Amino acid sequence: MSWRSASKLAWLRGLPGIREKEPLASRTSFGIGGPADFFLEAGRAETIEKMLDGCRERTIPYLLLGAGTNLLIADAGIEGLVLRVVTRDHVVEGTRVRAAAGLKMMRLARIVADAGLRGFEFAIGVPGTVGGAVYQNAGCWGKELREVLVEACGYMPGSGRKTWSPADLKLGYRSSALRDGALKGALVVEATIQLQRGDGEEAKSLMAKLTRERNETQPIKTKNCGSVFKNPPGDSAGRLVQAAGLKGTREGAAVISELHGNFIVNEGGATAVQVARLVERARAEVKRRFNVDLEPEVELVGRWR
Ligand SMILES: Cc1cc2nc3c(=O)[nH]c(=O)nc-3n(C[C@H](O)[C@H](O)[C@H](O)COP(=O)(O)OP(=O)(O)OC[C@H]3O[C@@H](n4cnc5c(N)ncnc54)[C@H](O)[C@@H]3O)c2cc1C
Repeated sequence: MSWRSASKLAWLRGLPGIREKEPLASRTSFGIGGPADFFLEAGRAETIEKMLDGCRERTIPYLLLGAGTNLLIADAGIEGLVLRVVTRDHVVEGTRVRAAAGLKMMRLARIVADAGLRGFEFAIGVPGTVGGAVYQNAGCWGKELREVLVEACGYMPGSGRKTWSPADLKLGYRSSALRDGALKGALVVEATIQLQRGDGEEAKSLMAKLTRERNETQPIKTKNCGSVFKNPPGDSAGRLVQAAGLKGTREGAAVISELHGNFIVNEGGATAVQVARLVERARAEVKRRFNVDLEPEVELVGRWR
């Protein structure tokens, strides 16, 4: 039976706070993509868990949305329910910190620096949420979340709350069991990280320095999704795209950044199809010239056909 049966639609329409045909472009850093069939923003994990169980029972497709900084949403939008996770609690217990999935990594980086903790400065380079960071083991400047992650609390629809160790999460380079394995479809509720006591002011000046340097070498202030491709072993995707002569290549309002080859910028009004064409073109050209297979880091979601 289709997920669009009258009883399933009635269930969705009866959810408190639900919105139908909700535009999503403005909820992504790319500023691209069609609407969600149904959309709900939830600030309590229990609410999201209930929705996930409801979707599972009724076989309604769903997508968890964080800050939308690693997504290319199809122009035709997203099927089913999009649940935006906006839980933002955090607790600092000595050198351990528990943070809810919807808290932004950059915000958490400042919170822990204020608490006199070191070891999380890399997070100032990750504009997504804690949940999105666990999902793909986000990292920056040679450091990754898995280096500080003690455990994550999560929710698997139909089987309830779980505590996942880093080994359960199978964290690899921009990958995890949530993105690529047995935990697909599960919700990250919160993450616990272990840091060291140190000088918070030093942490803040390091973060300011790293941010300044990054602003000079990457088009951070434009509409983009961060790195389009994962770096292949021993090389850099940006270097390969540049060496293939692709900087400045455009499809409509989508362009491969002149500043950094691993960024695609939406100059205003670009469509998802235009970005996807650039992604394919860069992949094909790098393969042809250097025989290297580039794997997208950005995730394509929604109705692509
Ligand atoms: C300018 C810029 C710079 C960036 N730099 C970096 C960088 O240096 N390093 C890096 O690693 N990334 C970087 N990124 C990419 C992005 O910030 C990270 O991938 C981030 O982890 C995505 O988090 P999000 O909340 O935006 O997730 P979204 O884009 O909203 O979602 C991405 C995926 O995570 C899943 N997800 C989100 N929340 C949850 C949850 N609570 N439970 C389960 N699944 C969830 C979604 O379902 C989706 O599949 C950059 C992006 C931009 C725009």
